[in-house]
Amino acid sequence: MDKEKIKNGVRLILEGIGEDTSREGLLETPDRIARMYEEIFAGMEQSAKIPLEKTFTTDATEMVMEKDITFYSTCEHHLMPFFGKVHIAYIPQGKVVGLSKLARTVEVFAKRPQLQEQLTVQIADALMEYLQPKGAMVVIEAEHTCMTMRGVKKPGTVTATMATRGVFAEDEQMKQDFFHMLKI
Ligand code: ZN
Repeated sequence: MDKEKIKNGVRLILEGIGEDTSREGLLETPDRIARMYEEIFAGMEQSAKIPLEKTFTTDATEMVMEKDITFYSTCEHHLMPFFGKVHIAYIPQGKVVGLSKLARTVEVFAKRPQLQEQLTVQIADALMEYLQPKGAMVVIEAEHTCMTMRGVKKPGTVTATMATRGVFAEDEQMKQDFFHMLKI
């Protein structure tokens, strides 16, 4: 990541809105933001291969669900945070992955400039690619600060997105099972 570019960019934005970048409170701001971006965009330099590579052999053939995975991401249209919960399920086909690795996979994709729709699809596709399950399903519920702080200003509005792959896409009952498990 090019921190100097980020610092220059932040200085330009502050100047653009009419701020005095030499005043005390703003002096360290470009550097602070550059360091923060290293963290919140860390997924730019990561692949879902790392968390999903190590799998365990299993006879389990029923749904594995990890729900309420908290995430924070950044909307690529406004560079404003959006955050909420990810629910992930898959039907193993000989392989499972450590449960914490599903949360790690969410982090890899969330820590990039993102769209909620795209984040949902990328998680589902990564599961299909690295675990080769019979199916995968991802539901994300999130609040977008670019919607709640500006524009239509509707605090608390939740955007929900869904991606289904394999049996979850083919079989309506599987989708119903997902939502049933989610409520337990
Ligand atoms: Zn936005």
